[in-house]
Amino acid sequence: MIDQIMEYNKKFVENKGYEPFLTSKYPDKKLAILTCMDTRLIELLPAALGIKNGDAKIIKNAGGTMVHPYGSVVRSLLVGILELGVEEVMVIGHTDCGVQGMDGKEMLELLEKRGIDKQHIDIVRHSGINLENWLGGFESVESSVHETVKGLKEHPLMPKDVKISGFIMNSETGLLTKVEE
Ligand SMILES: [Zn+2]
Repeated sequence: MIDQIMEYNKKFVENKGYEPFLTSKYPDKKLAILTCMDTRLIELLPAALGIKNGDAKIIKNAGGTMVHPYGSVVRSLLVGILELGVEEVMVIGHTDCGVQGMDGKEMLELLEKRGIDKQHIDIVRHSGINLENWLGGFESVESSVHETVKGLKEHPLMPKDVKISGFIMNSETGLLTKVEE
């Protein structure tokens, strides 16, 4: 698959396929979006929001959650806010998210089945990492978005003038519903 992608890429550049995408690193809508890596949202989310190249900083991970207050999500948001002019943040969960109901214990069993040594898992655990939590999912997308928005708003390093709000997107229609605070 990667070979095919490399081949496509060469032609894309040769044919100047990039021309409609030319823009700057500064988000025109002064917006950052934290959302899920779900494949259904790749094109649907920007299309349903009317966002095009250059409009917003989009930060993605499994579930679109903060994961850790000093992890890559907050770091990325702070770069967007402090360096690139972001003034508003949208946290967007979505229906039928794979992270909903995910079980940390099951993930650990899967790791062992994939050949990861139980000893390595124990070493990580003994270094103080709660693996079940880290690999676990959330119970409902509403509460996850709510908690993420709350966590970002209350974060000690988050400038208070940044507007942060939460939404759920329908993974098929793209319909956005606001999550009440
Ligand atoms: Zn998801």
